[in-house]
Amino acid sequence: MKEIRLASRPTGWPTAANFEIAETPVPAAGDGQVLIRNLYMSVDPYMRGRMNDAKSYIAPFQVGAPLDGAAIGEVVESRAEGIEVGAVVAHGYGWREYAVADANRVRVVDPAAAPTLSAYLGLLGMTGLTAYVGLLDIARFREGDTVFVSGAAGAVGSVAGQIARLRGAKRVIGSAGSAEKVRHLVEDLGFDAAFNYKDAPVRDQLRAAAPDGIDVYFDNVGGDHLEAALGSLNKFGRVALCGAIAQYNEEVPPAGPRNLGLAVGKELNLRGFIVGNHNHRMPDFLAEASAWLRDGQISARETVVEGLVNAPEAFLGVLRGENIGKMVVRL
Ligand code: NDP
Repeated sequence: MKEIRLASRPTGWPTAANFEIAETPVPAAGDGQVLIRNLYMSVDPYMRGRMNDAKSYIAPFQVGAPLDGAAIGEVVESRAEGIEVGAVVAHGYGWREYAVADANRVRVVDPAAAPTLSAYLGLLGMTGLTAYVGLLDIARFREGDTVFVSGAAGAVGSVAGQIARLRGAKRVIGSAGSAEKVRHLVEDLGFDAAFNYKDAPVRDQLRAAAPDGIDVYFDNVGGDHLEAALGSLNKFGRVALCGAIAQYNEEVPPAGPRNLGLAVGKELNLRGFIVGNHNHRMPDFLAEASAWLRDGQISARETVVEGLVNAPEAFLGVLRGENIGKMVVRL
C-alpha cells in the first residue's frame, strides 16, 4: 500500500519535495483494532504548522514518518467488538491507503445521513463544528448582528457565513481571493456582499460593504484582514480568532495589527479557540446542520482531488487558494 511521508521540513512555502510517496505492507489489525481502507482524506491549513518542528497545540509531523489527519474509510477487517466489517468510520489516520486503529479511536458514521461520505470531513465534521463554535460560542453571535467572514469561500468560512445567515444576521459580508469565489458567495451561498481582497485594500472594501460597521468578525486570515476588521468593528464588537493563514508560510511574521489600540475604546472582545477543545458541541451542531442540509438551506460544496499520490498537491492547493469549499482527496 501507499502512504505519504514527510521528506523534509519546509522553510516558507512548502513544495512537493517536502513529501515522499512510500510503499509499505498493509498492516494487520490486532486485538481490539480494525483495519480500514481509506476512501477520503482531508487536507487542512493547520497541517502547515505541523510541518515545522515547533511546540504547538498539536505534535509536529516527523521526518520519515507518514503524515496523519482526518479521514473516512471502510472497515475491511475487525477484531473489535461492536464494529462490523463494512462499517464506515471517521478517524485520524489519513495520508495512507490502509490504516489500523484502536476501536476507541474511530467513530462509526451513517453513510445515509450525509450527501457524500466526504461531508464527514467538511460540513458534518471538524470544519462545520469550527464554524459553529467560532461564530456562536466564541464570537457570541446574536440575531441582527452584521458579520464579516474572511476566507469566506473556504471550508470553515463558507459554513460560518451560512450559519450567520440562517441564524438571522442583519448582513453577512465575505472576502475571498477570486472573482469566481466572490460570485459564489453572493449567488450560491446568500452572502449580502462579498469582495476580492486582491482587488483593493481590505480596509476600503470592507468599509464600502459595511457602511454601518460590523458587530462580529470571523477571522480565518489575520494580517490586513484583522486590521481592517478592527477599524470597522462597532462598539462591543466580537472577534473569533480562528486562523491566520496569511502568515502560515511567512518566514518573518507580520507586525501588527497596527491599530489594536482601537480595541480599548471600542471595548472589543477578541478570542482565539481550538475546535478540538469544543467537541461537546458536536451533537448540537449536527442536529442543526443536518436539518439545514435536509431542507436544502445550507450548501456543502467541495473541491475533490483524485488519488492519494495527489494529496500533497491538494494540500499545497489549499494554501494557494485553489479550493472552493472543503478540499478533500478521494483515494
Ligand atoms: P480553507 O478551505 O479556507 O482554505 C484556505 C483558504 O485560505 C484558501 O482557499 C485561500 O482562499 C485562503 N488564503 C490562502 N492564503 C491567503 C492569504 N494570504 N490571505 C487571505 N486568504 C488566504 O481552509 P479551512 O476552512 O480548513 O481553514 C480556514 C482557516 O481556519 C485557517 O486559517 C485554518 O487554520 C483555520 N482553522 C482553525 C481551526 C481552529 O480550531 N481554530 C480549525 C480549522 C481551521 P482565497 O482564494 O480566498 O485566498
